[in-house]
Amino acid sequence: MRPSFKKALQRAAINARKLRPTVLYKEDILSLLTASDGKEMEALFNEADEVRAFWVGDEVHLRALLEFSNYCIRDCLYCGLRASNVALKRYRMAPEKIVELARKIKSMDFNTIVLQSGEDFAYDRDTVSWIIREIKKMGLAITLSLGEREFEDYRAWKEAGAHRYLLKLETSDTVLHARLRPGRTFEDRFQCLRWLKELGYQTGSGNMVGLPGQSLETIANDIALMAELRVDMAGIGPFIPNPETPLGDCPQGDIWMTLKAVAVARLAMPWAHLPATTATGTIHPQGREMALQRGANVVMPDVTPVENRKEYRIYPNKMCLFDEADHCRTCIEGKIRALGRRVARGYGHALAFQDQQTEYANGGR
Ligand code: SAM
Ligand code: SF4
Repeated sequence: MRPSFKKALQRAAINARKLRPTVLYKEDILSLLTASDGKEMEALFNEADEVRAFWVGDEVHLRALLEFSNYCIRDCLYCGLRASNVALKRYRMAPEKIVELARKIKSMDFNTIVLQSGEDFAYDRDTVSWIIREIKKMGLAITLSLGEREFEDYRAWKEAGAHRYLLKLETSDTVLHARLRPGRTFEDRFQCLRWLKELGYQTGSGNMVGLPGQSLETIANDIALMAELRVDMAGIGPFIPNPETPLGDCPQGDIWMTLKAVAVARLAMPWAHLPATTATGTIHPQGREMALQRGANVVMPDVTPVENRKEYRIYPNKMCLFDEADHCRTCIEGKIRALGRRVARGYGHALAFQDQQTEYANGGR
């Protein structure tokens, strides 16, 4: 094991066990990401798994993902939902349908629903607020993933009862970001994340590993920035080329690089919820399980009706494309148990958020 790697791992391990971990030096994050031979990788993965157990325990949180619209006004070069993709059959669920599906999701014993779509402004501020209020009555925790919107939209939805918002930074390389997301900048995206934090959302972010033109330094920077922002969740998954996009011929993200990024994210953000992403399960048959053993503690089963799911084609060959939601739930529970872990029964709120609740309960703040 290289002395520089060993030192970086020692520093990260000590920091990750502090009550209030500080942000790791970017050089240490970078050094951990370069874990190369079997020994370094094994040490990194073991440490991440221990820190995961120490901070968030053996429970795996299930978040039911409902993809309610595949319309999008944006044109991200990597994504199949981009406005220019005319090969996609577009769908948009009626607000009442979304609420009805949420009821079904609740009856399947999920505690959290994630409402995701392209950037679809047909769902205006009031419509989304209505959906949130109706779902809130069912006792589900609500995560939104609707992309970049105005501050006032985010505020209204928080007031309506949304708990969390998921907005991946995608890549913190400003030049690459502007190239891959025409008309948008990294600063626009990061401003939204700051607003979400300011409004008190449990804020989720994340990045893609293996984007064409991305360097290891960029991945290190993505992780450092998310740690600095104290995000509550970080979704890290491989880039998967979609032939219906301009990046269709680019190579896909590497499974081991993705797993290293998840493990390093666990050390850099020990408090965070880290999903074993569907994209990771798509590029490797055991991808999600491997991520769960290397720092991850969340799985987001796709509960979108099958006829819509096949049109939510961010990338091709998505795992479990034809599995109905109840089958998905049983299947993933079995896989979690096989790893010696268990499905969480509570809401799985962010750790910082739980601290605040305790502070409120104790009359603090
Ligand atoms: N429109 C919202 C947004 O962009 O935040 C939410 C939906 S978007 C489809 C959800 C995520 O899909 C993005 O944050 C991006 O990381 C991921 N994604 C898009 N294209 C991808 C690809 N080709 N490979 C892997 N992930 C991809
Ligand atoms: Fe639209 Fe999100 Fe896809 Fe970009 S990543 S094209 S914003 S759905």
